[in-house]
Amino acid sequence: MSGPILGIDLGTTNSLVGLVDTGFPVLIPDDEGRRILPSVVHFHPGTAPTVGESAKRARLTHPAEVIGSAKRLMGRRTADGPADSGGWGYQVRPGPDGRWGIDLPHGWTPPETIAAAILRELKRRAEAYLGRDIHRAVITVPAYFHDAQRQATKRAGELAGLTVERILNEPTAAALAYGLSRNQAGRYAVFDLGGGTFDLSILEQKEGVFRVLSTCGDTRLGGDDLDAAITEELQRRVHAELGPEAAIHSRPTLRQNAESLKIDLSQRESVQADFPFLWQGQSWSTTLDRSWLEQEASRVFANIPNLCRRALSDAGVDPADLDDVLLVGGQTRMPWIRTLASELFHQEPNTSVDPDEAVALGATIQAGMLEGSLRGVVLLDVTPLSLGIETFGGLMNVILPRNSTIPCKAGEQFTSAVDSQPGVRIKILQGERELAKDNWELGQFDLPFPPAPRGVPRVGVQFSIDADGILTVLGRDLTTGSEQTLEIRTAVDVDDVQVEAMVSQSVEHALQDMAERQWVEARLGAERAITMTRKALAILGTQVSGPEQADVARLLNAVETALRTRDPRQLKESLRALDEGTKPLADRLMSRLP
Ligand code: ADP
Ligand code: MG
Repeated sequence: MSGPILGIDLGTTNSLVGLVDTGFPVLIPDDEGRRILPSVVHFHPGTAPTVGESAKRARLTHPAEVIGSAKRLMGRRTADGPADSGGWGYQVRPGPDGRWGIDLPHGWTPPETIAAAILRELKRRAEAYLGRDIHRAVITVPAYFHDAQRQATKRAGELAGLTVERILNEPTAAALAYGLSRNQAGRYAVFDLGGGTFDLSILEQKEGVFRVLSTCGDTRLGGDDLDAAITEELQRRVHAELGPEAAIHSRPTLRQNAESLKIDLSQRESVQADFPFLWQGQSWSTTLDRSWLEQEASRVFANIPNLCRRALSDAGVDPADLDDVLLVGGQTRMPWIRTLASELFHQEPNTSVDPDEAVALGATIQAGMLEGSLRGVVLLDVTPLSLGIETFGGLMNVILPRNSTIPCKAGEQFTSAVDSQPGVRIKILQGERELAKDNWELGQFDLPFPPAPRGVPRVGVQFSIDADGILTVLGRDLTTGSEQTLEIRTAVDVDDVQVEAMVSQSVEHALQDMAERQWVEARLGAERAITMTRKALAILGTQVSGPEQADVARLLNAVETALRTRDPRQLKESLRALDEGTKPLADRLMSRLP
């Protein structure tokens, strides 16, 4: 398929669309010149849904029909945990397929339907601008969207009549927007705080190529949470001044105004909030101070410093090594957030690209590159967790370490553990733990090979991840050349919370895991020594005298006892004794060789 490709920032709060027009990326305004479309949809029974500002205004009068923050529900299964409307007036309910959806007057509605309505509006805008039909798009998602969330985003595009050519991570898109305008080598942090998500990425740019060194974030943290805190505070005050009933009934009005009060406080030290005829004809007003909001912000955004530090340490980058800190997302307009960013990264953040537009601009640049109308920048991502296979004794053997740059490829050679083994089972694992069983299994396959003594078969295992994050595992019998492959699509898109849990568990269990690995390796060595000794006895037969045989049996017994009692020191000593005691046997074996 050909034709223009749209670049779309499908945001939790706001969405934008752009395209490359005669060589330049442009963001497309509506009839009134506004480039930002609120991601809000009003479903009225009997007519087509309305999208954007007018839908946002209808929130007060038709709370149950007006849907905002639907992105928080995209692709979320009930098994992922509870879900809510993020402070909106609609009902969230599990659907027939075990996924969260929205209760509307016309029935249960999946979040893709909401997203599709927004995408249709953006598509319509772009078509009016270009004067032709458009069928392709690049859509951005938070870096930590898992596979089901990305799939739901793709489906939303299809519902809107768009083929989604690429799902692009938002921070990567933002970097692209800054990259094109700057085109300088260096290392950057992208700090993206929007209405509903926080993402921090450490990127490197070299010779026009971006590399994502690490990413951290929270898919449920953003400016909405601050709006909710303001609503709570206003409601508390109404409760205190006008009573409990007034507090309950005025909540939607308070909520409606919370965001603009917050935005005003980015400009001023204090704002007066006036609510004419708030309750039973009574007007009410109150004052909010920036210092109070900043106190709330430090509570709401308490985890941001940790996430930033982790991204830095994962990337092995010191704040001093950063050439720039790029601020993205509307909430970064708040002065307190700018100060926080400058403290965390020991430098003044860069705000040269409009924080509302950076992601959409990056998506548009990516769209232009896919179309062929823009060239010169390649994007790379990283693996969020280590990938490897299970080896002898149930150990994790890492093939692609955590934070490997994508695309990437690595391989290793393995052999059999016992004689006449009919083949190997290749179990693909993801995680940071030493023992296979503590990591996640992504898939497995069997690779048969002709019977041979242990250690003779040679099996090559190769992991490769392509630019789209698809992992291909190849197993090849190097003797016969026969091979098997397995494709895994979930190796790169892993849920943030799961990544965090895996990493913290590996730190927590580091000593124990290490001890376990050492024991397993020692045990495998001991088992090898036992088999070798028995083989030697069998080969030499009557050349070994009765007393010698008794001696060796005693030494073998000591090793077996140590294995049973799981005493590493005893195992080491008994192995040394066995080694010493079987030297004469080994010498005799050697002399039999031609
Ligand atoms: P998203 O990526 O979630 O769609 P945006 O990047 O559009 O979000 O950011 C929206 C958030 O930014 C909202 O919570 C909005 O209230 C907030 N915001 C926008 N402008 C400002 C401002 N001047 N000061 C503080 N917050 C702002
Ligand atoms: Mg955003």
